[in-house]
Amino acid sequence: MTADFETQLRAVSLRVTRPRLAVLAALRDHPHVDTDTVIALVRAEQPTVSHQAVYDVLRALTDAGLIRRIQPAGATARYESRVGDNHHHVVCRSCGAIADVECAVGRAPCLTASDDHGFVVDEAEVVYWGTCPGCAADPTAQ
Ligand SMILES: [Zn+2]
Ligand SMILES: [Zn+2]
Repeated sequence: MTADFETQLRAVSLRVTRPRLAVLAALRDHPHVDTDTVIALVRAEQPTVSHQAVYDVLRALTDAGLIRRIQPAGATARYESRVGDNHHHVVCRSCGAIADVECAVGRAPCLTASDDHGFVVDEAEVVYWGTCPGCAADPTAQ
């Protein structure tokens, strides 16, 4: 698995470093986690990695397109390593749980604007909001 990550990093001309490998592994195993969680996961493996180093890795990997940063309104930024398929997210209004929703069409933009005002539209940002099964079963839990 690490070899895959090394290949991914080299493909975008990023040096292979242990913190970068650790962040990619953390996001593979824990999609949609926030920065603090990434830091905790990485430091569980590599206690000497600083917070700033993790911030820098997240930015570099996002800029390179290896990971995706998502930020539902009112929520902290989350990261995931599933990129390039234009998938959407469903977010729980109560607890903030996030799950993947396949893109209806399979590529951006999956929604056709009723009036594009002459713009060349290349993406529709779709977030589904609702209540997750856990919160629906126990409305007092949050
Ligand atoms: Zn919930
Ligand atoms: Zn996702």
